[in-house]
Amino acid sequence: MIFDIITIFPELLVSPLDEGIIRRARQENKVEIHTTNIRDYALDKHAMTDDRPFGGGEGMVMKPEPLQGAVAAVLAARGDAEVILMSPQGEPFTQQMAEELATMRHLVLVCGRYEGVDERFQRRHITREISIGDYILTGGELAAMVVVDAVTRLIPGVLGCAASAEKDTFSSGLLKHPQYTRPRDWEGMEVPEELLSGNHEQIKQYRFLAAVTRTLERRPAMFRKKSFTAAEIKLLKRHGLYQKIAALQNADNGNGNKETRCP
Ligand code: SAH
Repeated sequence: MIFDIITIFPELLVSPLDEGIIRRARQENKVEIHTTNIRDYALDKHAMTDDRPFGGGEGMVMKPEPLQGAVAAVLAARGDAEVILMSPQGEPFTQQMAEELATMRHLVLVCGRYEGVDERFQRRHITREISIGDYILTGGELAAMVVVDAVTRLIPGVLGCAASAEKDTFSSGLLKHPQYTRPRDWEGMEVPEELLSGNHEQIKQYRFLAAVTRTLERRPAMFRKKSFTAAEIKLLKRHGLYQKIAALQNADNGNGNKETRCP
């Protein structure tokens, strides 16, 4: 998989792309990540990449020609791609979107700055707009880095343990269970007994119930999309959790969702 990041501040991305799992994935050629400086495609002698907005008002707007030059160059060098604009007005970025993007061959991530980018460039070249949340950043670089990070760890072979991504919060449809490591007793706080039992079935059940409890407390809306196996339903019933979840799911059905996940 190939990422091209188009930015006026490529230096900003050097260290985030050169540490930890992303660094290893690049070294092992699981992912190829390029940065391109928009300024290299500026047309005038001052290498201007932004200009004042037509109609007046504060701030600057990124000019279309240098952006177009940069996009054309990376497509010519590395082939067709989804050309994504990082933008607070885009589709909200989710784990599900990360999973979808991880199946693509080539992504171009365009980072805005200032007040944003000329609308005509967007109309001509952008195939998708992604927002990382309802807040405004000074530029698209950190947002692009969030997408690169979340997508790269889903590429097969990037995480040490293949199964670990599937059990993560959101991928499994539940928040992940609480986790503990040594020491067993830390300043009087002990690790739950069930995790020390060595009984794999008991540990699995404990973790499942802890994940359900945590999701009920913090993100009850996640149950709308969650389905359970017969064995899980039995376990939920035994621990008095089933009713609450069924109520959440049925409340949703009442709002037009015909599917029944808790029979
Ligand atoms: N004036 C614009 C915001 C510009 S912020 C508006 O009101 O919509 C400058 C740049 O930062 C944007 O072009 C975009 O690339 C990036 N950016 C800011 N917030 C972002 C977010 N939540 N998600 C993704 N990119 C964002």
